[in-house]
Amino acid sequence: MTEDDLREHFGRQAVDALIALLRSGQTPEIDPRIFEATLAESGIETESVRLLDAATEAHLVERIRAWRCPQSICHRIIDAEAVANHHCPYCASDFRETGENPVETFVYRSSKAISRSVPWLIAIHGFNTRGPWQEDFSWRIAHRFKYHAPVLIYKYGLVRVGVLFRWRHAMLARGLGARIRKAVADARENQIEEPPDIVIHSFGSQLFRLVLEMPEFSDLKFGRIIAVGSVIRPDFDWSPYLRNGRIEAVLCQCGGQDGAVPFAQFFIPDTGPAGRYGFIDPCVINVRDDKYGHSTAFAARELSRNLARGGRWDRFLREPIASFSDSSRFELTAWSPVFALVRHFTRAFTILLFGAITFGLVRFACRCLA
Ligand SMILES: [Zn+2]
Repeated sequence: MTEDDLREHFGRQAVDALIALLRSGQTPEIDPRIFEATLAESGIETESVRLLDAATEAHLVERIRAWRCPQSICHRIIDAEAVANHHCPYCASDFRETGENPVETFVYRSSKAISRSVPWLIAIHGFNTRGPWQEDFSWRIAHRFKYHAPVLIYKYGLVRVGVLFRWRHAMLARGLGARIRKAVADARENQIEEPPDIVIHSFGSQLFRLVLEMPEFSDLKFGRIIAVGSVIRPDFDWSPYLRNGRIEAVLCQCGGQDGAVPFAQFFIPDTGPAGRYGFIDPCVINVRDDKYGHSTAFAARELSRNLARGGRWDRFLREPIASFSDSSRFELTAWSPVFALVRHFTRAFTILLFGAITFGLVRFACRCLA
């Protein structure tokens, strides 16, 4: 049972009202009778006990044994002490006098795991773009999480030929790691102690992976990671980072029509098409949208859909990971890279081609100037 299932069964209004009540922290314990009456006042008809029992299955609430005053004019929830004293603190009736005993019942308490809030977020884009989606993205995040989640957009500028070289990757990753460390310090100064959630796109995902692997950044911790159009190898082992607490969870958003990532391994060293095929590591949540290309997930309409309450990314960012479900979730069982010789050849050929073009242009320029 997920939040979506609840909405389907009990209607959006009733479920939203329940979640709003849980978030508000107004009532530590929910009495189904009072909850039902409150809903009815707002014109929402629902069987609150059934809804709350289902919400227990969705890990939103916990069911707790309680007692109710037996007096029909009262029927309030009373605590163990009132039961032991045979006295209702609300209607002042003495159960020994009335001869009626408190009635056993259940109340519901917000499950601690109900939902986390996104503390703050870092977005890291791909190499041949300044990421036009990012402005829309930060706006939507700010709008969606109501100022609770500051967004840092990491800009490393345009990188083109540099993607061919490992040394350039390492340089960019060091820059990214240093920037994240500074941002974490800034967040702490602003009383945000939690690690950031991360959205990585395309080549930005490879840089993030390198930061994870670099010993000099082993102190950096992260919340939940959303990888879109990722060029990380599908056999990358995320588990150690989840086990040692450096990462909370990973969602790989695949695009069934991502035509870019299958080429990554031929040009960008040590990469692969995770953005198309997902990750083998069972710790990763692979989801796929068959209509998505390399960046479709960031198109205004899709971004809005993914981040809307109950949307795929929204649920991944907020729900307990154990209860996360999505109809597009899938597992990848095997992947192997194309023969190393082929990969090395294509990359070497591209480097030579770039070299030749650059040399030609320089000679041409010299001749013009002469
Ligand atoms: Zn009473």
